[in-house]
Amino acid sequence: MTTTALKKRSITDLTPAETRGKRVLVREDLNVPIENGVIGDDTRIRAAVPTLRDLADQGARVIVVSHLGRPKGVDESLRLTEVAARLSELLGKPVVKASDTIGPDAQAKIAAMQDGDVLLLENVRFHPEEEQNEPGFAKALAGLADLYVNDAFGTAHRAHASTAGVAAFLPAVAGHLLIKEIDVMGEALSEPKRPLVAIIGGSKVSTKIGVLDNLVGKVDALIIGGAMANTFLRAQGHETGKSLVEEDQLDVARRVLEIAKETNALIILPQDVVVAGSISATTAAATVDITAIPADMIALDIGPKTAGRIGEVLSKAGTIIWNGPVGVFENPAFAKGTESVAHDVAAATKRGSTTIVGGGDSVAAIEALHLADQMSHVSTGGGASLEFLEGKTLPGVAALNDR
Ligand code: ADP
Ligand code: MG
Repeated sequence: MTTTALKKRSITDLTPAETRGKRVLVREDLNVPIENGVIGDDTRIRAAVPTLRDLADQGARVIVVSHLGRPKGVDESLRLTEVAARLSELLGKPVVKASDTIGPDAQAKIAAMQDGDVLLLENVRFHPEEEQNEPGFAKALAGLADLYVNDAFGTAHRAHASTAGVAAFLPAVAGHLLIKEIDVMGEALSEPKRPLVAIIGGSKVSTKIGVLDNLVGKVDALIIGGAMANTFLRAQGHETGKSLVEEDQLDVARRVLEIAKETNALIILPQDVVVAGSISATTAAATVDITAIPADMIALDIGPKTAGRIGEVLSKAGTIIWNGPVGVFENPAFAKGTESVAHDVAAATKRGSTTIVGGGDSVAAIEALHLADQMSHVSTGGGASLEFLEGKTLPGVAALNDR
């Protein structure tokens, strides 16, 4: 057992009397990509299975609620029909789909449920009251059930009716996925196997200030890559050509470097970069030292020297937290740095290090490389994992009953 960072009641604390024959409303994040009626990556549906199967096996009547996309009112293209079908395949049992969320069809189908049955409500965001966390709507949702389980880590950073509001009206506990996400990341931040190394990349410092601020005082080493690194290089006085630099974040970069100096955290910035004239170039123009970035070029990836240095640091890490690709990995010409980091992190997992990857694009990168199963933990929540790494309290967790 990990030390539970989660001081909240969870599904593992429930007694059989609390679940058998009871109607349990489970918030899952089943927001998967669907194109022309075909589900793309079904990771989020698969991640929901342990909680749903556990409750069904215990004889609960499992009522699943989720959002899909960003509908403005009822949107025929955003119904959860395909999701219900895939969930049924994965659970190996029928999943009844209601055509509404709190209306007569949902109520009738719930009334007809037997112990162990699973039902999926319609897209909860067809109701604008969901995102407004409107108490009347939260109460109506709660009225469908006897117990509430929040398992939707991907939306736990939102205070919506189905993620937070409903907890005011029912006993409210965390599901298996939510517990796992919070435990793994919580432990990595509070009592990590050291050295603790963070790799922070992506395009903008401004979207990751909170993470940098929260991590810089905790880590033994901070590796900064991606376009973000350009802002740091500029803060150190380097010429960065036409690279993406956030002029208004130079002070933030200087402050992060200053704190790292005080806490003796090792900072790794690029020593060399791969440059080209445009982000869509089919080949890199050159690999140059950071003191020699041409005025008309953009730095789009870390260079091999930098990748090698990062590999050395990662080879000694006890815990690795990775958020943000270190280059424009979507373009094969600038994907080598991110590939190198991904392989190094996978190798660290094999040696017994704890490795955690969060962030929508970072996860897409390791999935494209078929390395996702070689990480200790791949977070199912982009925005939620970012806010967790920022040290923020997630409303969907805060709303649950204390232990
Ligand atoms: P995550 O979703 O994992 O949190 P971000 O959304 O912060 O990551 O950043 C991912 C984006 O950063 C990618 O689209 C990638 O192309 C971009 N990026 C990485 N390095 C660079 C760079 N040097 N110049 C421009 N964009 C970059
Ligand atoms: Mg992203």
